[in-house]
Amino acid sequence: MSIDQTSRLCRILPAPVFDQLGSLLRQIAEGTEANPLVLAETALPVGKRLNNQIERFVAVVSSQFSGLLVAEAAALDGESPLSSHQGNKTLSTDRSADPSAQPVLYQVGLSFSPAAIAVFLNQISQLLPTDSPLLLSLRQASQQLQPNHAALQSEFTLRLVEILTATPPLRATDASCDLRVEAALRQQVEQERSLNQVTTQIRQSLDLPLILQTAVQEAQKLLQSDRAVIYEFEGSLAANGRPPGATTETLPPRPLASSRRPPLSPSSPHLALGCVSYEALATDALPSVLHLAEEAYCFSEVTDYRIKYHKGFILAVNDTETAYSHSSCLLKLLRQAKVRAKLVVPIVVREELWGLLVAHQCTEPRHWEDHEKVFLQRIAEHLAIAIYQARLYSQLQQQKQMLEQRVVERTQELGDALVAAQAASRAKTEFLAAMSHELRTPLTCVIGMAETLLRAMVHKPDTYSLDPQKQQDYLKIIKRSGEHLLELINDILDVSQVEAGKTILNVSKFSLAQLAHQSLQMLREKAQSNGVEFNLDLRFAPEGTGAKSFQEDLFTADRRRVSQILLNLLSNAIKFTPAGGRVTLRVWLENNFAVIQVQDTGIGIPKSQYPLLFQKFQQLDGTYHRRYEGTGLGLALTKQLVELHGGKIDVDSTVGKGSTFTVWLPAQPLLENSRGLKAFHPVASALSKVEADRPIQVDYPLSFGGRIVLIEDHEESAMLICDLLTAAGCQVIWMVDGSTAIKQIELLQPLLVITDIQLPGIDGFEIMQFLRQHPATQNTKILALTARALPEDKQRCLEAGANDYLAKPIQPYQLLDKVAALVSVEE
Ligand code: ADP
Repeated sequence: MSIDQTSRLCRILPAPVFDQLGSLLRQIAEGTEANPLVLAETALPVGKRLNNQIERFVAVVSSQFSGLLVAEAAALDGESPLSSHQGNKTLSTDRSADPSAQPVLYQVGLSFSPAAIAVFLNQISQLLPTDSPLLLSLRQASQQLQPNHAALQSEFTLRLVEILTATPPLRATDASCDLRVEAALRQQVEQERSLNQVTTQIRQSLDLPLILQTAVQEAQKLLQSDRAVIYEFEGSLAANGRPPGATTETLPPRPLASSRRPPLSPSSPHLALGCVSYEALATDALPSVLHLAEEAYCFSEVTDYRIKYHKGFILAVNDTETAYSHSSCLLKLLRQAKVRAKLVVPIVVREELWGLLVAHQCTEPRHWEDHEKVFLQRIAEHLAIAIYQARLYSQLQQQKQMLEQRVVERTQELGDALVAAQAASRAKTEFLAAMSHELRTPLTCVIGMAETLLRAMVHKPDTYSLDPQKQQDYLKIIKRSGEHLLELINDILDVSQVEAGKTILNVSKFSLAQLAHQSLQMLREKAQSNGVEFNLDLRFAPEGTGAKSFQEDLFTADRRRVSQILLNLLSNAIKFTPAGGRVTLRVWLENNFAVIQVQDTGIGIPKSQYPLLFQKFQQLDGTYHRRYEGTGLGLALTKQLVELHGGKIDVDSTVGKGSTFTVWLPAQPLLENSRGLKAFHPVASALSKVEADRPIQVDYPLSFGGRIVLIEDHEESAMLICDLLTAAGCQVIWMVDGSTAIKQIELLQPLLVITDIQLPGIDGFEIMQFLRQHPATQNTKILALTARALPEDKQRCLEAGANDYLAKPIQPYQLLDKVAALVSVEE
């Protein structure tokens, strides 16, 4: 083996530099595994030499990096080569012993070719004795030899360059020095520099388009190819977004193949191609293939190419004309794109074939060198990392944006919740203020006037007297105040019932016209006293018939709830319409809906206040300076009742001109068991309004006799009931204590027992249960009275044995109605 079989460095190097290079080889090999094969001339048996020229050598073989460094004696111009063997002295001892002596110089050869190293190892083997243990190692090393790992190779090259640049150049004596090696070395250094540039760019930037563009430019420049491109597969294009300028709007992908293509099967695995997304050209004169999308079917002839690329396959085509002579389709495609030679390396991002990095030679064939393949491959590897990083970065950005968005939303939610809480707290305070006002006003009347009346009766007529008219007026005011309080309590109860989901609809068929008339009737007096004109506009008769009949106005819903809706809207309209104004109630049927419209010419509502209208305890003119009494519950309850029917309520209003409230109620299915059900309500506020118009003197049309036992511990209530029933012709026996009452009822055998529920000692439930259990009283009619006005209270009473139930405060006509009904059934 001569130095020519390796490669020469075009320098004559001093012996210490040779030593440095030798130890560099060793270091790199040792970096890859624990015990690489390291061989030097000292391993040869004494007196044996490779040939006359090679004086020294270092050979290293490891799994990823192998190299061979050989040295021949060399001399500078005009000198004769000085061999280290001259005088049988080693180089180092020679120099240290005599510093003025001529330095030992070598012509150095360096090889990384597995074949060349194998030949060299074989030569060594032949010099060794047959029983040398080294023989086996040499054989194993020869079998292990393979091309070096690109990164290790480049590390060696960089450090080699460092050593050489630190060494002053000495002129070579040997004119046959292989300039190509130096050129190759220079190119390798240049490639390393370029690769460094690309990797620095990758590390510094997360701008993927910039990285990819730099990569193709550098690849084209360093490989001195006509063109370098990045080809992205379809999925990657979608995942990464197209690069700037590659949008379909600006330049749609142009198919390269002829328009005469065979029909493509949608299931073809070759369909998912992509397009050229980045390009660098050596000169502008060369045709561009940027944005070109290849037709899939051409590649169906290249079997499994994607699978191969996925595994890291590098495709080097030195001449497309010969390589693809069998495929006219591909050849045509490549001719169109002006590709005469190509080097293709895959870009595999995390197990996924992302795209290809391709170098083209356009006009003439080209032999692609190994180091060029390695170079392009390394750029592709770095690109894969960059693409992955960019993906992570974009995911991170998305997550960051999402989190930021979440923070904004959450902050907004918290802000809203705070505003809502503040509003709720304000509403509560305002409600308490309103309640206090609403309760105090009638209570002041009740207490003040009752006291006045009492005084008038107690004092002597000459010192203090009240004329009968005044007394009646006072009593009327007291009654109205009580009724107002009752209305207030009922409203609150109603709202809380609906909110608790405890309200059920008692659906029945009824006449809307009648209900409308009735509602107007109830409020007519109030309207008159306010100076407001009342109109009723019923639109039930089919158009054009002129029929006046109410036949078409039958509707199925909860009559009492619909009545509440009407009364709430109408009383608001009257309340908020100044004297001289007009309130119109319109009712009609539209398909399956009843439409109720209450229009007034009142003060109107600003649009900004609409959202507050249907909220509980909201009164738009504030609490402390209010001109209109009310609880702020009417519209909230109205809306709840409308929604309970599955309907909707709307408002349209102009400040100073008036408001129109429109309600759409869908007809409710009429169930068998709901047909006969009477609407139940603790005390109907509407009824109380009707009764407000009646004189205190009860003028009941029916008269019924019979014995009635009343168990009531509240004296005033008992007195009222006794008076009413006695006036109706009954014999009433009043008892206060439940336990004694039971015995007496057995004896008295009354037609009816009216019992309060909350009694001291034994309560109303126990009395009823007892009466029902005893044969003598088990058929006696029982009417329960209670101040607890919730539906479940009624249910409890009925379960305990009551035939009917009446909520306090007692409305005279209700009491008389119920008693009459129970007594007449008996008769
Ligand atoms: P209130 O018991 O105070 O009447 P509502 O819930 O019925 O309670 O009404 C809430 C508020 O809506 C009223 O205080 C009033 O400011 C406004 N409002 C309701 N109806 C009308 C109307 N027809 N015209 C003007 N303002 C109205």
